[in-house]
Order: sequence, then C-alpha cells, then structure tokens
Amino acid sequence: MEVIQLKAGGESDAMDSSANTVIVRLTDENGLAGIGEADAPASVVESFLEMPTEHVWSQNPRSLLLGSDPVEITALWERLYLATSYPGRRGLGIHALSAVDIALHDLAGKQLGLPAYKLMGGARRTKLRPYCTIYPGLPKEDLTLNNLTDAALGQCETALGLGFRTLKLELMFGELASDADLVDVVRQVRHSLGGNITLALDFGYRWYDPFDAAWVLNRLGDEQIYFAEAALQHDDLRGHAELSRRCPIRICGAEFAATRWEIREWIETAKVAVVQPDISRCGGLTEIRRIADMCELHGVQLIPHGWKTGILAQAGRHFQASCPAAPLFEFFSPHVYPSPLRQSLVGPEPTLSDGYVSLPEGPGLGLTLDEDIVNLYRV
Ligand code: MG
Repeated sequence: MEVIQLKAGGESDAMDSSANTVIVRLTDENGLAGIGEADAPASVVESFLEMPTEHVWSQNPRSLLLGSDPVEITALWERLYLATSYPGRRGLGIHALSAVDIALHDLAGKQLGLPAYKLMGGARRTKLRPYCTIYPGLPKEDLTLNNLTDAALGQCETALGLGFRTLKLELMFGELASDADLVDVVRQVRHSLGGNITLALDFGYRWYDPFDAAWVLNRLGDEQIYFAEAALQHDDLRGHAELSRRCPIRICGAEFAATRWEIREWIETAKVAVVQPDISRCGGLTEIRRIADMCELHGVQLIPHGWKTGILAQAGRHFQASCPAAPLFEFFSPHVYPSPLRQSLVGPEPTLSDGYVSLPEGPGLGLTLDEDIVNLYRV
C-alpha cells in the first residue's frame, strides 16, 4: 500500500478541491495495482492510513490490508471500519477508507479481468448521464453580479458544446446578490438554455432559515428546476424537512456526509428527495452501493457529488452504471475548468454524446495512471 500526496501549483480558486489529491495504490504479488483517491486533506489521510496500532479499535490500516484478498472487498471494509472505529467511524477516517475501497475495486477488477461495475452486480443501464457544474466563482472586488452571470452563461455554452445536457448552476454570490437577484439570475439562465436542458441549482449553504430559502424556491417553481442543493446549513436536518414541505422543488444535500448511518438521517429526519454523498468521502463504492439500496427502498434519488481527479470521475461512471436509484452523477469536466490534476493524472476520458457517456471499458476502473504526472506533482 502506497499513499501518494499530489499538489498541483499554488493556491487555486477557493472552491477548487481538485488542486490536490491523495491516492492510495494497492499492489499485489504479481505487480497488478489498483488506485483510489479521497477528497480530504492529503497529509491527514496519509497519517490516518499509517497510524500505529494502539488497541483493537485503533489499528494500523496497512497491516490489515497486507496479505488480504482484494476480491473480499465488503469483508475488508467491515474489518477496516471496526479496526479504526476509535479515531474513524465518521468524517476523515471514512474519507481515508474511501480511497482504499476504490483502490480495492480497481485491483480486484484487474485480477479478475472485469470492469468494476460488474463486480458491483453489473450494468443496470446502457448509457450514463453526467451533469456539469457551472461555477463562475465567488464574488471578488470589481466583479458585478452581471459579470458573474455572464461568466456562468459562458460556462453553460462550453458545457453544452461538450455534449452535456444537464447543468447545475452554483449561486454562491453572497451579499453581492439579494434573494430577489438570485431569482432573476436563475430566470435569465433558464431563458438562455431553453426548455430542453435539465437545470439544477446549488446555493452553497446560503440560508439559515427554511422560510427565506422557500421564498426563492417558490418563485422558481415554473423554471423546471431539477433539484435545489445546499439551500440550508448542512447539519440543519430538520430545516431541510421544513423546506421540503414548503416548496415545489426537490430539496437535496449530504455532500459532506459519510456512511449509510449519516445518510439514513438525511432520509428519515431531513426528508430530502435526493442525497449527494461523494464516493471518495462517504466510504467508497462499497458504502455508496449500500446507501443506494436504502435510497431505492425510500424512493429517494442518489446523485453523487464529485470534484476531484479523473479517478473519482471514473468511479462515478461505474457506480451509476450499477445503480438504478442514481439518475445522474456529478462529472467534473476537465474541459470546463483549468485543473492540471483533473486534466492529466489518469486517462482515457469518456466522450459525451447528446448528454450521455458510455459504460467504462477495461478491467477495474479502466484507467491508466500517468507516472510522469505523479512524479511532477508528488509532495
Ligand atoms: Mg455542492
């Protein structure tokens, strides 16, 4: 097991979590290797995976993995979860295990000569539907709301040109925009897209009160909004339930959540229509499939968050292929944002055609890691 920290360049945009990553690479006795990543601070993930064994619930993950059979992925997940439950169980520990779990799917698939989605039960659909996030940036001095709206419209055009047919607009304009301004911006974007493009919204945790959020969402009822993400504070589960009751748009959240135990609260207490756990944070492909089963049972959609490198983007494809409860997945496009790690760390990239990409090919995740890029950006 290797834990590889990568950092590309200096400080990037405040919201770009793809400027760095942490990869876990698991290599077997024949030299086959599987890779995974975690969307969490790289040095802390490394510390977690390399921590010394102290007692039965605080064990060194490396020593549990060495000598294990990577095909026994779910059994390994349980062993790692229990053996790290003192410092882990939620949050960072689960983010770190997510990278291990993705790497196990890649390695087991390579050993068996099967794509990861076949290890997860096989394809439940023949083509996959990614969505592209439109993020014109945070307010800065000298930028007007019109500037940010124009930037968003420009990104929409780029995304549509690439073949996306589902877009999510980030509305993180802070005090630059009043609630009434937000309604105008969304109407402007919807008008420019026309009626055939699926449009979702992300409010970046704007409100503390469901009545304020409902004021905006109720005015957008005729704009064919697919979902409204992060309207309220992430941990305000009861507020989400109140908001769901008060407005006509699917309310969603849970991008920071880890494990099915947290997502159960999002379904039962927050009563959201869509949950958005991230495969590289919630516990990997093993855990997101268990979450998907729970969603299917409750009539809740699962649309995973994803903003890291091509490893997570590809994990999203394998997951959506195997999961009927996931109508979409967030696909961080390497062609919309200038992110060196997203653009060059792994390949090949899928091509979009009229809103869809094909099932992934090749064993495991079906990716090749560019060793030159690893060496270039290794910390
Ligand atoms: Mg988000």
